[in-house]
Amino acid sequence: MTLAAVSLADNRGRFDVERARADFPILKQRINGRPLVYLDNAASAQKPTLVLDAMRDVYETTYANVHRGVHTLSQRATVVFEAAREKVARFLNAGSADEIVFVRGATEAINLVAGSLGRRYLAAGDEVVISEMEHHANIVPWQLLREEKGIILRVVPIDDDGVLKLDAYRALLGPRTRLVSIAHVSNALGTVNPVAEIVREAHRAGAFVLIDGCQAVPHYPVDVRELGADFYALSSHKLYGPTSVGVLWGRGEVLAEMPPYQGGGEMIASVSFDKTTFKKPPHRFEAGTPAIAEAVGLGAAVDYLTGLGLAAVHAHEDALLAYATRRLGEVPGLRIIGTAPEKAAIVSFVMDGVHPHDIGTIVDQYGVAIRAGHHCAQPVMDRFGVAATARASFALYNTMAEVDALTEALAAVRELFPA
Ligand code: PLP
Repeated sequence: MTLAAVSLADNRGRFDVERARADFPILKQRINGRPLVYLDNAASAQKPTLVLDAMRDVYETTYANVHRGVHTLSQRATVVFEAAREKVARFLNAGSADEIVFVRGATEAINLVAGSLGRRYLAAGDEVVISEMEHHANIVPWQLLREEKGIILRVVPIDDDGVLKLDAYRALLGPRTRLVSIAHVSNALGTVNPVAEIVREAHRAGAFVLIDGCQAVPHYPVDVRELGADFYALSSHKLYGPTSVGVLWGRGEVLAEMPPYQGGGEMIASVSFDKTTFKKPPHRFEAGTPAIAEAVGLGAAVDYLTGLGLAAVHAHEDALLAYATRRLGEVPGLRIIGTAPEKAAIVSFVMDGVHPHDIGTIVDQYGVAIRAGHHCAQPVMDRFGVAATARASFALYNTMAEVDALTEALAAVRELFPA
């Protein structure tokens, strides 16, 4: 599957960005006397009214703890919580809702795989393959496992455009490769990785595959069954849903063989001091009280995106990316970091003679919110020989006029710091 092909193929309707903007109350405000231009979506996206209402409704009408109560409210809360799981399963085209594990976010999803599958099945000398463009969330858990178990971490290099070197990837796969864990879309560069091919090659080598889909799901339709990986991780808050909830999708037969990641209430079948038995997935991996209203909010977010049509959203964002790439190219001394041919709507850049933090602070005076820093991807910064970048990341509610506003604010930066 090439993502662009899938997402554009069924792009029938025209996307009405002004109508979509009206769904996001926060966008109406002014920052520093200017209309807010929110371009920090890769860090966290804003929330539509539908999500806010769904969460408020839970607390006003349905809230109680889930799974454990015999009383009516608890049963109602359980129904809406499990309905959210069903919605996410449909959104990802999972084989069943039992393949959807609610976690705190992509970070916890990856830690879950490292802590469960990694601890149980990986031994000293076994290899885990990641890439040079990973977020720290997909580096550090494997380093912790390396310290604990003596596994070997292999890193696929990227080229000067920020494209994964597939030949090097193939060469890294070998008889000791047990797991490949790679981002679907790079948060720092915007690169879209050829995940279907990555999965095929990994499986040919007999390895499990985890795809970190955090930055893909807000932009592209994702079909986990078609993709064929073993795990797919995402965070709700980047998908227009609330914080504190996320998803680990795992193939049913793989999850079934995995031991618990954390112990506590809700994940057990029976407990005695001599022996405890565990529930089946997904509950085996959901120790303690989950993020109930947040899961419902995530369910509403996927309803919202499904209603808009991710193919239409993608086409809109692709146009924004093309326009932003052209306009930012007009700013003297500005260099875009990450120029892969397949990119999501994320533009990282540096400007001669200006620290990215200064860029971020100055454009904020113009109401423009961008990110400045290493984006939790320090190895990527090292690869490009920079300490940090400024990053504009786009969402479904951004407009061409907002790209112009960013460009004008950057022109003001350039005036203060001539090239
Ligand atoms: N992976 C990628 C590619 C990300 O962009 C992020 C967040 O920026 C994460 C993982 C971690 O997500 P969270 O902090 O929501 O767990």
